Amino acid sequence: MTTPPSERTTVTRGANRAVYDPDRVRTILDAGVIAHVGVTTDDGPIVLPMAYGIDGDDLLIHGSVANAMMRAGRDVDVCVTVTIVDGLVVARTPFHNSMNYRSVVVRGTATAIDEPEAKTAALKVINDHVVAMWDTARPPSELDVRKTLVLRLPLTEAVAKVRDGDPVDEDIDMDGPHWAGVVPLTSIWGEAITASDLHPGADEVPPSVAGLAGRNAHDT
Ligand SMILES: Cc1cc2nc3c(=O)[nH]c(=O)nc-3n(C[C@H](O)[C@H](O)[C@H](O)COP(=O)(O)OP(=O)(O)OC[C@H]3O[C@@H](n4cnc5c(N)ncnc54)[C@H](O)[C@@H]3O)c2cc1C
Repeated sequence: MTTPPSERTTVTRGANRAVYDPDRVRTILDAGVIAHVGVTTDDGPIVLPMAYGIDGDDLLIHGSVANAMMRAGRDVDVCVTVTIVDGLVVARTPFHNSMNYRSVVVRGTATAIDEPEAKTAALKVINDHVVAMWDTARPPSELDVRKTLVLRLPLTEAVAKVRDGDPVDEDIDMDGPHWAGVVPLTSIWGEAITASDLHPGADEVPPSVAGLAGRNAHDT
């Protein structure tokens, strides 16, 4: 096991499930689809689900310049969590029920990317995180870019926790009559459904989009 990046990212409960190795943390971030972004705002803490991307040693998120949470998240300490649920863990007693999962918590100060070219490059990274279709779509206009706020959060303080395998039950229950096991959960992309208002000359599904069908959403 590698060293925790900071005191506050040291996993204490379920410490055997902690993953500090940056490459393994990065693999989970690559496999995730949604980030939950937590920020303290003037009217209290808020956590919102968002798309994200990974660029080198940074996690990137974006939103409207009118997004109150994004605005409040500039230059302050934020927390971003990415969660992948791999299964339901059914124990012999509900007290020991759990989930199999891969989750990452990133803490640190988010800063805005303001320079238009860097911002556009960041938007491409976020957009292409799940499916690389930026290059086959209309590029965003200058106004689109101006209306978007992009925040960068360094992965310096990132930690993962991974649970897999059987339920962990107590000795007194092991010879009892109650079932225990794991129900796997897999998210698979479906076939692309063409927009009902699509122009007839634009009916070719981009290969990257078509290629999603049948793929596990959390494969890297
Ligand atoms: C899908 C899912 C469902 C869960 N359901 C529950 C539940 O119902 N009840 C419950 O108590 N716990 C649940 N957990 C575990 C929960 O996320 C915490 O790990 C656990 O509650 C310990 O919290 P703590 O504050 O005592 O952790 P501590 O070990 O004290 O946390 C210290 C630091 O470790 C890191 N850390 C903690 N948890 C995680 C994590 N999950 N992923 C990455 N880094 C982490 C953070 O940096 C945190 O600041 C769930 C986890 C997942 C992924």
